[in-house]
Amino acid sequence: MSDLDLAVELLRATPTHENRTDGQLRAWAEIALAYGDELATGTDSDDVQVVEREGGVSDGELLLAEYQRGMVVVYTEALQRVEELARARGWPVTREALRRAAVAHELAHHRLDVRELNRRLGHTAFRLGPLRLRGHVAGAEEISAHRFAHLRSGLAVSPLLITTALTGGK
Ligand SMILES: [Zn+2]
Repeated sequence: MSDLDLAVELLRATPTHENRTDGQLRAWAEIALAYGDELATGTDSDDVQVVEREGGVSDGELLLAEYQRGMVVVYTEALQRVEELARARGWPVTREALRRAAVAHELAHHRLDVRELNRRLGHTAFRLGPLRLRGHVAGAEEISAHRFAHLRSGLAVSPLLITTALTGGK
């Protein structure tokens, strides 16, 4: 399955998108992936500090990493779970590459400009006469961040595929 197909599925599974046409979701997915590509080719102005903490697993939810006050915290228990899933599927990914992808994903969220992404998505949520309010496309930021993480980490398997697998998909 291509990243585009996976991204469409991810959007499809996101609340508020249940009844959108496949064409609409595909167009949004393409824009979100392209934005992730563009961000990933940009240069980094600063090194980000990465720290590891235990945990990241609660109520069946995994929190791999999060951005906190200028640093990225990686949660080792969640990372271990993803590593086990990858091994069970026979995916050639190392813990280090998964860790790099998790860190890059958080960096992407920190760097991406939500207003710019929304502008590109061009989704109008509300129109009143000449007034047009730009809508938010739920899930689009995740797609951009996954693509950014894939390009930056060199992970052998798409983070979109890993996410789909973790959420019980293929
Ligand atoms: Zn995210």
